[in-house]
Amino acid sequence: MQIYFELFPLIGAVLLIMGLRNLSHPKTAVKGNSQAAIGIAIGILVAIFYPLETTDNNYLFIVIGIITGSVIGYIAAKKVAMTAMPEMVSLFNGLGGLSAAFISLVWLFNHHTIGDFKNMAIVLLNLFLGFVAFLGSMVAYGKLSGKLKDRYTKIPFATILNLIILFIAIVAIIYFGVQGKLTLNELILFSVISLIYGYTFVAPIGGADMPVVISLLNSLTGITAAISGIMTDNKLMLLGGILVGSSGIILTLLMCNAMNRYLWSVIFGSFSSSAKAKEQAIEGNVKTITPADLAIQLAYSQKVAFIPGYGMAVAQAQKVVKEMEDLLEEKGVEVKYCIHPVAGRMPGHMNVLLAEADVSYDKLLDLDESNEYLKQVDVAIVIGANDVVNPAAKEDPNSKIYGMPILDVTKSKQVVVLKRSMNPGYAGIQNPLFFKDNTKMLFGDAKESLLEILTELKEADL
Ligand code: NDP
Repeated sequence: MQIYFELFPLIGAVLLIMGLRNLSHPKTAVKGNSQAAIGIAIGILVAIFYPLETTDNNYLFIVIGIITGSVIGYIAAKKVAMTAMPEMVSLFNGLGGLSAAFISLVWLFNHHTIGDFKNMAIVLLNLFLGFVAFLGSMVAYGKLSGKLKDRYTKIPFATILNLIILFIAIVAIIYFGVQGKLTLNELILFSVISLIYGYTFVAPIGGADMPVVISLLNSLTGITAAISGIMTDNKLMLLGGILVGSSGIILTLLMCNAMNRYLWSVIFGSFSSSAKAKEQAIEGNVKTITPADLAIQLAYSQKVAFIPGYGMAVAQAQKVVKEMEDLLEEKGVEVKYCIHPVAGRMPGHMNVLLAEADVSYDKLLDLDESNEYLKQVDVAIVIGANDVVNPAAKEDPNSKIYGMPILDVTKSKQVVVLKRSMNPGYAGIQNPLFFKDNTKMLFGDAKESLLEILTELKEADL
């Protein structure tokens, strides 16, 4: 019997690795998702039945937990709008961190029931990271959903405060690790410190810097899952945690690169986007264009770039974008998509939406390729993107997003921005792009505007 329990986690692990590999490409992503899900399901079943061989676990608790979790998960997944997906991911990530913290608490209260792991320092590290991932993700959820405004989460001297809290937490982990025990009051104090750091580390970060902190929180949850795997002697959880933790760190570094930030400044919460001086005033007039005029321009173009952003997700315009790509290509126009790494509200957001609309992966250009391509483009159509095309990141040292690499659409001959109003994007700042000589605005819902352009292109037989 024992041999089967050793074999199943191995099968689950192989499925999980294959799944993650396949998830890295849109063509194989659906298959990868199923493989990873089966792998994890095997892990859950093994975790349920394995300890029953030796201990007296309570089936009732397990069944109630599984049913409650499945029902909530099912309803949440069915009800959530695609645009609210990033918030939901944050919420789930936080719950992962909380579970890890609970595993540590259970060990501390009743350590003889979970494996025979005895290292107090590792248990406390898990507790700390779990609580940080939990409260940090809850704050991120609040910020992404707009329920928690940046102006209410400013913390004076955030960097110093975070350094002090982190120092106290590390010293406590080492001290209690060496002691091998701690009292209930010390445990409560340590938990409170961990939760406070979870808040103070994420709260000051706002606006365009959120993607970095979100991917860091994801990797923290991965690390806590790995430590929990060691503590509970669950090899699949250890492996899954390592995969999530390490890929999360890689993603965090890529995001730091995309935002031109340093990782240490994220960890100490020192890049608050609210700390800048007054931004430069924007001068100039806004020019508009009609769908009919834009259709003519597009039909006579050689190269067209689509620059999708969060607004494309809100409008659910991706399928119409693809339809327009097909029509333009029929007319001999070359079409490419310029993708900024932090466009939308979660890493890979635009890639997912465009894959859903069957846009070929080789038409998607990364930041550097896009900026080369944009120099040759006749018309760059910005579809609900704002911060990722904001030239203030290059031109205004006082801007909150100064230093963030952008898609430099101003290099193309003509820019057309599809959005509903002059409202700012996620970073909450005005965009001088809208006032540039070669920019025109097409106000309205992105999907409706694109449908009108499509109709014009078809009807006028351009
Ligand atoms: P932005 O949030 O900067 O801008 C989106 C724009 O879309 C808005 O200005 C809005 O203008 C427009 N819009 C909204 N709905 C519609 C609609 N139905 N039709 C047309 N336009 C619409 O998006 P970007 O993608 O440019 O930038 C992403 C921002 O989010 C960055 O600041 C990034 O740092 C941040 N972020 C990214 C995360 C990630 O992981 N990718 C995570 C967290 C934050 P209007 O209201 O006038 O229509």
